[in-house]
Amino acid sequence: MHELLRNTPDLETLDKRYLFHPFTALADHERNGPMVIVKGEGVWLEDNHGRRYIDGMAGLWCVNVGYGRREIADAIHHQAVTLPYFHAFSSWATDTPILLAEKIIEMAPVPMSKVFFGQSGSDANDTQVKLVWYYNNARGKPEKKKIIARNRGYHGVTVVSASLTGMPALHSGFDLPLPFVRYTTAPYRLWEATPGMSDAAFTAKLARDLEDLILAEGPETVGAVIMEPVMGAGGVIVPPEGYYVAIRAVLDKYDVLLIADEVISGFGRLGTMFGSTAMAMQPDLITVAKGITSAYVPLSGCIVSEKVWRTIVDGQSKLGAFGHGYTYSAHPLAAAAALANLKIIEDDGLVAQAASRGALMHEKLQQAFAGHPLVGEIRGRGLVGAVEFVAKKEPATRFDPTLKIAGRIVKAALAEGLITRALPHADTISFSPPFVISEEEVALMVSRARKAVDTVM
Ligand code: PLP
Repeated sequence: MHELLRNTPDLETLDKRYLFHPFTALADHERNGPMVIVKGEGVWLEDNHGRRYIDGMAGLWCVNVGYGRREIADAIHHQAVTLPYFHAFSSWATDTPILLAEKIIEMAPVPMSKVFFGQSGSDANDTQVKLVWYYNNARGKPEKKKIIARNRGYHGVTVVSASLTGMPALHSGFDLPLPFVRYTTAPYRLWEATPGMSDAAFTAKLARDLEDLILAEGPETVGAVIMEPVMGAGGVIVPPEGYYVAIRAVLDKYDVLLIADEVISGFGRLGTMFGSTAMAMQPDLITVAKGITSAYVPLSGCIVSEKVWRTIVDGQSKLGAFGHGYTYSAHPLAAAAALANLKIIEDDGLVAQAASRGALMHEKLQQAFAGHPLVGEIRGRGLVGAVEFVAKKEPATRFDPTLKIAGRIVKAALAEGLITRALPHADTISFSPPFVISEEEVALMVSRARKAVDTVM
């Protein structure tokens, strides 16, 4: 079947005829068609014409253990033939989700109590909002329902999680955001700090912006804040030193929960098992997805603190049974894949490897781009990095967005055999390769990116 598909000359035609692509400029796609990937090994992908690419993005920041891991495939196969599915509603259970929940609670970056499983980062963030609302209803604070997210934050695309996403371009076609969401300033030094501002002064400004927003809304109406430890799709934005300590102090003052969206950072990407550890974040709720299975099958989770869990349980006498859950919550096959994936990460020391390959990647990015006259900032942490281009460095001036600089670089990179990603509304290209990338492949990835930049400007 696989060989048959690879050799089908008409895949492009069939795609254009039948497949509705997510996050795609559809009119362009109707003209140009797809790029069809048929095979992967390690950090390498192959398309249906036999062209090979380094996957500098691990898919969408997710194939952390790399392509072609037999151990995960075998675990999926074993689970599929033993028990492909049974649900977890009404106290039913299957074995692998129980073992996975235990494992995640053991691994969690702060003391946590329970894991609620879903399928995607988006639905998990929807669940987080419902948990916050139920929690505040349970403790007799029904007004405390607003959720504060950040400008440029990315939290998904369901009606609720797209509303949390602080990107107007993802709202405008869909009558979003929903009315309970507010946005605070992103910790985006290049555009939000004044020149020469210290980390301490920038942190103080960001904490003040959040506090001002909470006070303007009324603290009795604000339920939670959601933040990615390091913002991913919004531009790979790393907050200044001390940021989350200052944010937590504000939230504690006004009885507001903190949701860490670790969909990208969870399970090693920042060089620590969780991004909360790398960034000194103390969340009440944590969202995980992507790296939990390295995307071999869809799975997400909401990791819940004892405080929230106990309040929800105690609230049932008043609010009735917890009426939320998906057919695929605690899916045994996804949990089997996750257990095999986490075993690889631990057995192969891949978190330490993400840290060391990440350090090398940042060194190479600096060497390749720091002297470039149109590079405004090189950012990142662990094995996630980004280069932002500016029309002028002093004072920092953005490119005219219609030039689509990052998109053109990404296209040129493809011709060099590199997959990277343009980040929306920041003239930024990003890097988030599988943790198994070798030192030579790191060097090759960055040199191909530099060649691509040179062909564009
Ligand atoms: N949260 C973050 C931080 C993400 O990066 C993403 C996806 O990129 C999501 C949530 C949404 O996850 P999904 O695409 O699985 O719904």
